Amino acid sequence: MTVTDAETGPTTTTGRPWASEALHRADPQLADLLAAEAERRAETIQLLAGENLTTPAVLAALTGPLIDKYAEGYPGRRHHTGCALADAAELLAIDRARELFAAPHANVQPRSVTSAMLAAYAALLRPGDGVLAMSLEHGGHLSCGSRANFSGRWFAFTGYGVREDDGLIDLDQVRDLARQHRPKAIVAGSISHPRHPDWAAFREIADEVDAYLIVSAAQTTGLIAAGVAPSPVPYADVTVAATHKLLRGPRGGLLLCTAELAERIDRAVFPFSQGGAAMNEVAGKAVALAQASRAEYRAYAQRTVSGARVLAEGLAEAGVHPLTGGTDTHLVTADVSPLGVTGAEAERRCAAAGLLLGKCALPYDPAPAAEASGIRLGTGTVTSQGMGEPELAEIAGLIARVLAGGAVAPAAARVRELALSFAGRA
Ligand SMILES: *Cc1c(COP(=O)(O)O)cnc(C)c1O
Repeated sequence: MTVTDAETGPTTTTGRPWASEALHRADPQLADLLAAEAERRAETIQLLAGENLTTPAVLAALTGPLIDKYAEGYPGRRHHTGCALADAAELLAIDRARELFAAPHANVQPRSVTSAMLAAYAALLRPGDGVLAMSLEHGGHLSCGSRANFSGRWFAFTGYGVREDDGLIDLDQVRDLARQHRPKAIVAGSISHPRHPDWAAFREIADEVDAYLIVSAAQTTGLIAAGVAPSPVPYADVTVAATHKLLRGPRGGLLLCTAELAERIDRAVFPFSQGGAAMNEVAGKAVALAQASRAEYRAYAQRTVSGARVLAEGLAEAGVHPLTGGTDTHLVTADVSPLGVTGAEAERRCAAAGLLLGKCALPYDPAPAAEASGIRLGTGTVTSQGMGEPELAEIAGLIARVLAGGAVAPAAARVRELALSFAGRA
């Protein structure tokens, strides 16, 4: 088994700035909370799909001097003075993003994926315009038309979904809805769909109805960077990416777009929807992008996928049904109802055993959303810790045992032992 190498690997608990004397002296209460959080993480197996471990190099950049720099605007056109070095750092991040994703233009300032989505919509749409996106019930994110989110309030969303028989995106439905509603933009991408969407088909449909194609690729940004998933960048007008999640950088968003849209995208981020960028996050993004361009990272991305396949197979053998029958990515979305539990109950039982995963509403889910019939898991964190196929096979067995009503205590003991043996790795 390969242990993640020292440079690209995640952080151990030693030498972290939060463990410093300065914090203990200034705020022992918060310092204790952080120490307890580190302990919680070390003792549990983290399978939440969107989480990962930032690398030590990224953490170093995040706590560096750019944390204090105000730099509204863009390199060479700032509203503040003293920005020459901040400009250089942002240009590094931009150039690396453009190269890594073969994108004509990159904006590295969005504070989150959701704010990057806001900027993408702002650049292309006017309030009231129609948008066709994956429905929330079938795996769309809140930023794809939820009434609780700006997207659903300001734009007229129509939702497409997956087929009931095989769980794959129903491109015939996407085409029919596009012809019927003539949306101004089509959004492809999901938080829980484990297969690679057909980007070329989405492009073709968008062209047919003269719509923009926005791809929300936050879940699989790292796989795309590593060449382990097909890139949407050549097909999309705007690609929205995440620098946290699989990329192991700072929590944040990244926008990639065509040269024609560059100016509109930049203005939609600053000054339209954000103020000055967090320049330490921009610096951290530069580091994460450099690390993601290396062979070790590609190997990591491949291991997240092979681990997820083993996890899906193990769950399937135990009677938990992975949607679409498996996965192409680090994600496994599975139906736990054959075991007689709801997603919410599955999340609770697994958490009691130290296995952290999320309940997930499934397409055509008969259960109320608060209960749901599914769970969603990801292999980003455990793979960063050096776990591989044997561990993921064992984890699938542990999950299945806990869900089938087996005693929690022995499973919890084994989870703790396994977690601790990898917590300090890499
Ligand atoms: C994670 C994710 C988001 C939300 O990201 P935030 O940074 O928390 O706003 C949005 N869309 C997709 C597809 C995601 O995977």
